[in-house]
Amino acid sequence: MLVVMKAHATEEQVRAVCQKIESLGYRAHALPGAERTAIGVTGNKGVVEPGTLEEMPGVQELIAVSKPYKLVSRDIKPDNTVIRFAGSDATIGGKSVAIMAGPCSIESQEQAFAIAERVAQSGAQFFRGGAYKPRTSPYSFQGLGEEGLRIMADVRDRFGLRIITEAIDHESMDLVEKYADIIQIGARNMQNFSLLKRAGRAKIPVMVKRGMSSTLEEFLMAAEYVMSEGNYQVFLCERGIRTFADHTRNTLDLSVVPAVQRLSHLPIIVDPSQGTGKRNKVTPLSRASIAVGADGLIIEVHHQPDKALSDGMQSLFPDQFDQLMTQVRQIAPVVGRTVPSMATNISAVALEAAGKQSHPATVRS
Ligand code: PEP
Ligand code: MN
Repeated sequence: MLVVMKAHATEEQVRAVCQKIESLGYRAHALPGAERTAIGVTGNKGVVEPGTLEEMPGVQELIAVSKPYKLVSRDIKPDNTVIRFAGSDATIGGKSVAIMAGPCSIESQEQAFAIAERVAQSGAQFFRGGAYKPRTSPYSFQGLGEEGLRIMADVRDRFGLRIITEAIDHESMDLVEKYADIIQIGARNMQNFSLLKRAGRAKIPVMVKRGMSSTLEEFLMAAEYVMSEGNYQVFLCERGIRTFADHTRNTLDLSVVPAVQRLSHLPIIVDPSQGTGKRNKVTPLSRASIAVGADGLIIEVHHQPDKALSDGMQSLFPDQFDQLMTQVRQIAPVVGRTVPSMATNISAVALEAAGKQSHPATVRS
């Protein structure tokens, strides 16, 4: 059930409707949009009895939502969600595409700084690295844990980049929430419902990666889990699915980008590194991702990929990442988007150097 408020409904009217919904034993989710606020009603097993809600001041209409996903749907919020970060002009879902880059795993401070400096110079506004790695083999490198998170926080302070990193369980989620700007939920955890709910109680944005064999509906339902707990700062990431094709590690399903955008107001970005598993395919698929309308990219970059402790074969050299940025910068205007220039980022670095502290308060529009 969706309660659509009138365009000029006051905040008090919205609050009163939310209180009424909660007093009936449901959960109210007020999602302000450009034109009007809609209030999602969840927690109801069957049909909500419209009763007095319809008559309350400021209410325009009540709409039954037949789709299984409610809060992620454009029915509740027709305009795109844009995630913003205090102290940074970086956005996710805005006109400027979000560029996230960094090593698959944080290995040392020297390694993280060497890569961060290069990706920042090329225009990335987000540094992505793993401190907790969900590896197929228990004998593979599992990540530096909290030490890796500390290194990432140092990267933020030094280079002005926002930090995104994966939480693999509740314990790591507590720490990721403490150090990072964005929580990554990995493909293998896309249907870990208790982890998704925990992410829904976090105070920072959450990126949900698509499970390797999940349908569009399952993908959207994973984001719905996070939103249903009250965290509306959510975005999605296509990272390739399992098919019979064996010329790439996964099959990057770029058609899911417009499919998601049609149904949902949430941003969707693309990870061509996991999506192809091959260095020489990352740049072509990045170009295609921007052309198809993705809201951003996650690119694995390593200054010494031959020595990387994970995913070296799909990591770009910093020079290759720089070329990728030059190319996507040319493609973006064709689809009405921009790619951050180096100048934007350098001003962020200068801001940090001037001593302005960076940590996380985020705002959503
Ligand atoms: C990663 O981003 O390095 C990763 C392990 O991603 P995924 O969950 O998509 O496999
Ligand atoms: Mn990886």
